[in-house]
Amino acid sequence: MNFDLTEEQAAMERMAKNFAEKEIVPNLKKEEFNRELVRQMGELGLFGSAFPEGMGGSASGFLAHSVVCETISTYDSGLRALFNLQAMTVPYAMMEWGNDSVRKKYVKALVSAQKLGCTCFSEPNAGSDIAAIETKVVDKGDHFLINGSKTWISNGTVADYAVVYCTHDRSLKHNGLCAIVVETKQRGWQPHEIPKLGDKASPIAEIGLEDVVAPKGNLLGEWGGGFKVAMTALDRGRISVGSGAVGICQACLNASVKYANERVQFGRPIRDYQMVKHLIADMVTYTETARLMVRRGAWLNDQGRPFTREIAVAKYFAGEAAVRAAGWAMEIHGGMGYSLELPVEKYYRDSKLYQVGEGTANIMRLLIADDALGLKKANRPRLKVPVDFRDLS
Ligand SMILES: Cc1cc2nc3c(=O)[nH]c(=O)nc-3n(C[C@H](O)[C@H](O)[C@H](O)COP(=O)(O)OP(=O)(O)OC[C@H]3O[C@@H](n4cnc5c(N)ncnc54)[C@H](O)[C@@H]3O)c2cc1C
Repeated sequence: MNFDLTEEQAAMERMAKNFAEKEIVPNLKKEEFNRELVRQMGELGLFGSAFPEGMGGSASGFLAHSVVCETISTYDSGLRALFNLQAMTVPYAMMEWGNDSVRKKYVKALVSAQKLGCTCFSEPNAGSDIAAIETKVVDKGDHFLINGSKTWISNGTVADYAVVYCTHDRSLKHNGLCAIVVETKQRGWQPHEIPKLGDKASPIAEIGLEDVVAPKGNLLGEWGGGFKVAMTALDRGRISVGSGAVGICQACLNASVKYANERVQFGRPIRDYQMVKHLIADMVTYTETARLMVRRGAWLNDQGRPFTREIAVAKYFAGEAAVRAAGWAMEIHGGMGYSLELPVEKYYRDSKLYQVGEGTANIMRLLIADDALGLKKANRPRLKVPVDFRDLS
């Protein structure tokens, strides 16, 4: 086993760090969506690690993607969602499951962040249970017509292109789902922003879809094969979400080490108190364990091997680690943890998403336990890629 990053991965980590220091840190307090910042991230290639050069990427792989995503999330977890929307769950799903015209039209524009993406699973009555999706698609012969509503859609107010999961027949449950690329600049696409606790650099929307139109060629995978598309997209999304959670852990650790070294009480820096040391030790251990597990999942994906189980374990643990690390950081900071002056309260708010997004902690537990108990194998051959796109140009 080799746990070292390659030279290329290490260089990408440095590039992301330098960018974050220069461009993210000065604007951190604003906690708002910043289109120009996203454009710069795209231009720099931060979203392109897992894409072939012909698709605007660097062909560096999923582990490189994880490293870059973690680094950015260490500075602002709110920007982590972009690593799904401009990479994993939107353009990667398009590249993997779309036809040539979908690939040519949408993938490069998203990876370079010239255009913004969103991914639409969740609905008011379909959260964890995506087979309950009610948004209806009708095949009108020369186009698709989509009606329904979505909620909790990251970047839903600003996206140009969406992957919309809908059903052609609800009675078929999983087997009725379709994944369709929708261009959002049309009258029937009606997003409204939802105020939320954290991750504010990425606006969240509920979206009404009224007679939304999509060309027939925009179907990803097969008619009724949307569940497969969703599962592969979610696996890849969990690489980003897990990496983002590790970023929060590292940010909490960095802030806590600094504070514990500086803050003096009872005539000594608080680092000297064993109870504070315990918290620091636990933060280091949780952070490094989460990182190793997330990187194992990304590495397996780089090898073309199944990784559903491993990335579920990683995403579950990393989400728990992020929430715990944020709580411990608050504790170490005492009253200053509660203050808006320091970023620790932001880490606390941002961390909770990691127990929810891309499958809740309970849904990860179900997947992991069902696999261990022999009830349902997590790593099934469904990850087979329909075409070999590695050499696409
Ligand atoms: C900040 C943020 C960003 C998001 N971005 C997106 C996005 O871009 N696109 C998108 O489609 N969605 C997005 N979501 C939605 C997210 O994917 C859902 O919130 C998540 O899947 C859970 O669905 P739910 O909220 O409806 O909760 P529910 O499914 O209603 O779950 C509620 C509780 O019940 C538990 N539960 C449910 N079923 C079971 C079960 N079978 N066994 C045990 N426990 C169970 C859950 O674990 C949870 O604790 C986002 C959410 C947030 C908070």
